Amino acid sequence: MTRELFREDSYLKSCEATITAVTEAGIETDQSVFYPHGGGQLGDMGTLITAAGDRLSISDTRKDRDTGQQYHVLDSTNALSQGDNVTLELDWPRRYRLMRFHSCLHMLCSLIDAPVTSGSIQVDRARLDFDLKDPIDKEPLTTALNELVTRNVSMTTRWITDAELDAQPELVRTMSVQPPRNAQGTIRLVEFEGVDLQPCGGTHVASTAEIGAVRIQKIEKKGKQNRRIIVVFDE
Ligand SMILES: [Zn+2]
Repeated sequence: MTRELFREDSYLKSCEATITAVTEAGIETDQSVFYPHGGGQLGDMGTLITAAGDRLSISDTRKDRDTGQQYHVLDSTNALSQGDNVTLELDWPRRYRLMRFHSCLHMLCSLIDAPVTSGSIQVDRARLDFDLKDPIDKEPLTTALNELVTRNVSMTTRWITDAELDAQPELVRTMSVQPPRNAQGTIRLVEFEGVDLQPCGGTHVASTAEIGAVRIQKIEKKGKQNRRIIVVFDE
């Protein structure tokens, strides 16, 4: 399995890696800074640089649904072989926006006392759906979100065992997305000090000031008991 460097340090922008497999789906490596599509967050894009200096574009990063093995998607893998040493370089501006949005959604989650039914993090906007009957106002929510950004709440991660999480099911906020469990039987907790604590495999900023000014763009009623909240950067 690929060593997931991004889970320990989401600010790593590149790494050396050895190709462990070339498949029809893409390139598997011994380690990677690329986040694979999952938990509502888009897969990373960027560049694979060969030992000869050729730059190949990585258009997506995914995880095999059955095995959990991650792979990098390239237009052509013809020039690549198992055992090649390569450099993996993130499209960092894109990833950083995804990180800021992901942390922003955890802040949004902390402000609304209702279960999350689904979520999505894209480059230009992010959304969470809540199992919620009562309407919510955009303006106070925008103000509360920006207050959390200005307060610059710091983020830490730590690992707990599957059994510890199973004993505290209330930590899981998302009804549809279960946090990623791994072969070691551990799950990562993401904590924004005093504001939000939940299991999450995504990439986050170190403190909320990095999110920057945000704005609730729209709150939509989706079905009888579902509110969709869409947030954008106020830039
Ligand atoms: Zn998350």
